[in-house]
Amino acid sequence: MKGERTSFRVALISDHASPLATLGGVDAGGQNVYVAQLAKRLAATGVQVDVFTRRTCTSQAEVVPWEGVRVVHVPAGPPCPIPKEQLLPYMAAFTNWVEAFAAREGSYNLFHANFFLSGLIAADLKARTGTPFVVTFHALGKVRRLHQGAADAFPDERFGIEARLVREADALIAECPQDVDDLTNLYGADASRIHLIPCGFDPAEFEPLDKKEARSRLEPSVPQNAPLLLQLGRMVPRKGVETVVRALEQVEAAHLLIVGGESAEPDPAQTPEIGRLQMVAEEVGVAERVHFLGQRPRDDLKHLYAAADVFVTTPWYEPFGITPLEAMACARPVVGSSVGGVKYSVVDGETGLLVPPKDPDALAEALNLLLADPERAEMMGRRGRARVLRDFTWEQVADTMRRVYEEVALPPERALEPYSFEAYDVESAVADTIDRNFTDAVRALER
Ligand code: UDP
Repeated sequence: MKGERTSFRVALISDHASPLATLGGVDAGGQNVYVAQLAKRLAATGVQVDVFTRRTCTSQAEVVPWEGVRVVHVPAGPPCPIPKEQLLPYMAAFTNWVEAFAAREGSYNLFHANFFLSGLIAADLKARTGTPFVVTFHALGKVRRLHQGAADAFPDERFGIEARLVREADALIAECPQDVDDLTNLYGADASRIHLIPCGFDPAEFEPLDKKEARSRLEPSVPQNAPLLLQLGRMVPRKGVETVVRALEQVEAAHLLIVGGESAEPDPAQTPEIGRLQMVAEEVGVAERVHFLGQRPRDDLKHLYAAADVFVTTPWYEPFGITPLEAMACARPVVGSSVGGVKYSVVDGETGLLVPPKDPDALAEALNLLLADPERAEMMGRRGRARVLRDFTWEQVADTMRRVYEEVALPPERALEPYSFEAYDVESAVADTIDRNFTDAVRALER
């Protein structure tokens, strides 16, 4: 297929993570960004891309044109948000629907499944139609169970499904060296079929900005001249935000901004993790220095990164972790836990500092080191930016991914033109067919 830039069709399957979703809630984060960025960049190189994701409200149109891609809402299960842990029973309906859609609209050269649930769909479709598939797991069940124990609400069938995918996928996409190790050591994956392709960032979204100016945009309760730490991401316990709150006790005078949650208002009723962290902050006596800012639109993020002296992320484990890349793109030093993708993207001592997870003392020490040496911190930020520009843009990710696709996809039967939505009033199609949340998300992603 090499050199035939406009001749194949790929379906990205992303059962629960739509490229159009608003980010920051429990089930909307890195995978949504990954699918959105990959899809639109592949489309820009002439690939015909459909993204299949579960329909979560009745007003969603079946097909929404977006950034040269078709986002296809699959009716599988009730048309309302359902936690991803409860989606397995609906995947058979999802599979049948995609098979019928492909029979009607034209078959694909390749499926790219995201998450094990989508992998199950792709594996069943391969069994029925012979279409090859690649899979990015985004998270592995055995790793999750190891860290979350009884709090892991995924059914045990997940382990068997993942084992099947490791055997049957035509290529496995690992996001960092830890992911390669987990796939080989925990699942017995054949190393020759694993391709290490990291996540990326979008230079149009993230860039260094003036710190003072960025701070002036913050809410009045945040002091302008105090050392500021930023934590940003989905609000779930495994992100280890508790460790940061606990460390703050030993990082005198610093204030912590926490971005993320189910809504723009940091509401503990909607985001229980916020309530839990508020209690921890009270318990350790730092509540006045912790600012919950809720979920923020995409174009706010670069200002938030710019306002911070240090970006901090201390997950218990991390399949990749896009936020450190975003912070580095904004020339911020990163203090992160030495796990998974974080220890791959952040170079200890160069672009930030790595500490063990769940260790508030070690974290406080690292934060104090950087806050006491602003020159070193700024230097790390600059090096971080150079690093991500060199190695971690979505453009590079899509190019590398395309090469993997070309190795395993079915050969094209005929030349295809990329989708053209010129005749389509995308703005009103989106506004008419998707709910307010989704409209916000499309706008945010388009900015
Ligand atoms: N994010 C966002 N708004 C928020 C919180 C998070 O846009 O309020 C984005 C964040 O910028 C990043 C993604 O969600 O692009 C989180 O990805 P990451 O890989 O860091 O974590 P994951 O969600 O995959 O665990």
